[in-house]
Amino acid sequence: MLEELYQKIIQRDPSQPEFHQAVQEVLESLEVVLEKHPEYRSARIPERIVEPERVIMFRVPWVKDNGEIMVNRGFRIEMNSAIGPYKGGLRFHPSVNLGILKFLAFEQVFKNALTTIPMGGGKGGSDFDPKGKSDLEVMRFCQSFMSELFRHIGPNTDIPAGDIGVGGREIGFLFGQYKKLRNEWTGVLTGKGREYGGSRIRPEATGYGAVYFGEEMLKTRGDSYDGKICLVSGSGNVAQYATQKIAELGGKVVTLSDSSGCIYDEEGIDAEKLAFVMDLKNNRRGRISEYADKYPGAVYTAVDESLGYNPLWAYKADCAFPSATQNEINAKDAQTMVNNGVILVSEGANMPTVPEGVNIFIDNKILYGPGKAANAGGVATSGLEMAQNAIFSSWSRKEVDNKLHNIMISIHKQAYDAAEYYGSPGNYVLGANAAGFRKVADAMLAQGVV
Ligand code: NDP
Repeated sequence: MLEELYQKIIQRDPSQPEFHQAVQEVLESLEVVLEKHPEYRSARIPERIVEPERVIMFRVPWVKDNGEIMVNRGFRIEMNSAIGPYKGGLRFHPSVNLGILKFLAFEQVFKNALTTIPMGGGKGGSDFDPKGKSDLEVMRFCQSFMSELFRHIGPNTDIPAGDIGVGGREIGFLFGQYKKLRNEWTGVLTGKGREYGGSRIRPEATGYGAVYFGEEMLKTRGDSYDGKICLVSGSGNVAQYATQKIAELGGKVVTLSDSSGCIYDEEGIDAEKLAFVMDLKNNRRGRISEYADKYPGAVYTAVDESLGYNPLWAYKADCAFPSATQNEINAKDAQTMVNNGVILVSEGANMPTVPEGVNIFIDNKILYGPGKAANAGGVATSGLEMAQNAIFSSWSRKEVDNKLHNIMISIHKQAYDAAEYYGSPGNYVLGANAAGFRKVADAMLAQGVV
């Protein structure tokens, strides 16, 4: 029955391969869950959960500094609101299309359920590329984007946040326009600046969370980060704070990347070098190749599509934290990592490993934390930001970090226990899918056919 459903999804939306990929993984995990819970089957929960509650697509016209008129496409996928208002980030990247956002929104539903905070799933964004644009161009784009989006969102309806290409600068412009149009101050976006309702630790949360999740996985084998060599990909928000937390917990990060190439620094990326990367990426908006100019001990390798693998994953290491984008680890990369002795993969990015790669990790008993569990710390802390906004209060750094840490421990436990319960101990993919699905499915059952 699930194979039939999968084929139907492919036929209905043939041009959405990333969505098919995300759905296939969940449907595979659900076989064992549905065996134990036939009530989900008869209520057609699988058929209902793969269909977005609502999809919004809109024109985003804006004007460049030189007067040229540009037109981008905006999206918001409101996937599932069974357990709370739609919640999920906005991605601004030229690769954005409906299929990619549907995959992200679908993953978000299960991820949000695992956080233990009542949040439904959504995702949105645009094919706008912030790279190379002036601050004023980014502002005009964000204002135009929000001029349509504002009528669909609200603090109890749909609460967007950041993702690739949407950081503090973009959230500020989006929030300003929402406030102007609605004439009200509400916590309608998360990831806000601290001075206007943002939560402490929100910028750090996804990276820190992926490292905390990895720590829990290591603990199941009596191990820790102490002395571990770690590969991190990306050099944006998630990569930066994963690097910081790994170093704090005794590991050594030796790689970072961007869409142009990767750097390898055998000596490790310490606090001073990370501060350079943060200034480079967050303020100067430069390329990671500049790291190797600044630190001559480091090696830069430019992207070469013809290689068929990503050289970043070929460096010898113990742990890996993919933190750039989807499908950045192919089967060859996964096999190389296993051959090189990698014991842990904790995904900061969403769906960074292709299905064959995931199978290689699982078959080789790698501690493999899939994104929907390992990177849930970001949205969990967004949930904490919503709570602080709702009570007009703000919590200390330590308070939020403690809550985040406990949430990651709880997510790990839910995924670990569910994997065991459904007969595949140590399989965090099955565990996360099953545990997240059951919460949403139970809420959908209780609410009838809506
Ligand atoms: P940023 O925009 O801050 O950073 C993204 C990084 O990934 C940049 O270094 C970017 O390089 C690189 N990158 C983006 N696209 C590609 C590509 N197609 N090929 C190679 N490199 C690429 O985004 P985030 O750090 O916020 O997001 C990274 C990942 O983490 C994404 O998968 C996102 O969905 C996921 N995530 C983020 C959360 C958050 O709270 N921010 C929460 C949960 C998951 P360049 O500068 O060249 O574009």
